[in-house]
Amino acid sequence: MGIDPNYRSLPAAKEEQGVKIYGTYEPPTKLGIWGTIVGVDFDLCIADGSCINACPVNVFQWLDTPGHPASEKKAFPINEQACIFCMACVNVCPVAAIDVKPP
Ligand code: SF4
Repeated sequence: MGIDPNYRSLPAAKEEQGVKIYGTYEPPTKLGIWGTIVGVDFDLCIADGSCINACPVNVFQWLDTPGHPASEKKAFPINEQACIFCMACVNVCPVAAIDVKPP
């Protein structure tokens, strides 16, 4: 099962460098979904890196998440405002952890 496309209706638990975090945030094991325009479910992300390579406008950067059971780094959509909605990241993610929605 991939990211919940309705996650934006969840309360935002926190904000990190201007990026909202939705859902359950209980680090290091539960990290929730990061981003509003470009949402990455950090609890699904396995640090495959395809999205980082695919994005033409460098929306993502690695964020270390030591102690998380799925992977110890995540694709952080720090630059989500730059998204051009090409959907490349959505299409390459092997665990369907990304949902993109224009504001
Ligand atoms: S939809 Fe395209 S531009 Fe937007 S984050 Fe994904 S790869 Fe980057």
